[in-house]
Amino acid sequence: MIPVNNNLVFTPENINTSSKSGISIILRNQEFLTSKTSEFLLFEEDDLKWSEMEMVNKQFLGYLNNKPCFLSELTNESKLDEGLLLTPLRNLLGRIPDSLFTICSRSLQLSEWTNNNQFCGSCGSKMNKHETERAMFCECNNLLVYPRISPCIIVLVTKGEQLLLAHNKNFPGTFYSTLAGFIEAGESAESAIHREIYEEVKVNVKNIQYFGSQSWPFPSQLMLGFHAEYLDGDITPDGEEIDLADWFHYRELPQVPTGNISISGQLIESYIEKLKS
Ligand SMILES: [Zn+2]
Repeated sequence: MIPVNNNLVFTPENINTSSKSGISIILRNQEFLTSKTSEFLLFEEDDLKWSEMEMVNKQFLGYLNNKPCFLSELTNESKLDEGLLLTPLRNLLGRIPDSLFTICSRSLQLSEWTNNNQFCGSCGSKMNKHETERAMFCECNNLLVYPRISPCIIVLVTKGEQLLLAHNKNFPGTFYSTLAGFIEAGESAESAIHREIYEEVKVNVKNIQYFGSQSWPFPSQLMLGFHAEYLDGDITPDGEEIDLADWFHYRELPQVPTGNISISGQLIESYIEKLKS
């Protein structure tokens, strides 16, 4: 098994041109095969030589430290080799380096995409993998279906030393985060920001600044992170998605995500650093 460390370099690719032996990452029902004693989840060919596990749907992911890296899926009937268990990615967040998060994120999205596009949405025939592109293909209209990525905005709204944070109904306990939402068809990221923030907490914002992005494979979001300044309005949670929202002084924050887990945490940490400097 490949030790998990910060020196792993992953380059996503669609076609494997290397003859080197491969590295595998293994999924079942969107959970990763990991070792019970450590968080190793990258298997070399030798690790699987004597394995009795049954795997299907092998796909090329790209190169990890110049070695080809593949995703395989365990069948539902397959037993697990001794010492292994299945772990959802959420349980690995903050404990694996960015390069490994990228591989895991890509694996989950490609697996979901393959499993959900077995049949053509236009004519109902069985789809095939395209030979040269990462796409499912049907001959009916030369239809190509690429992995779907859903862009979302995620925004930290600020007013001087105060941060607007919200508690989503689905969050556990008193966990707060920044506001977020899907970009609608035909909408720009900026209009989605104005619309979502107003819908969720009845506040208007100005001076929108792009910060950065993060792939978030639950199941296929691309989070586009922004900072925005408060313009006007009184915070009023929509009661549907958001049940609590308020201004928090940066020295008295509730429980929020950390930057090593999500872009929400990075938005918060970077703003606080700027305030302190
Ligand atoms: Zn078709």
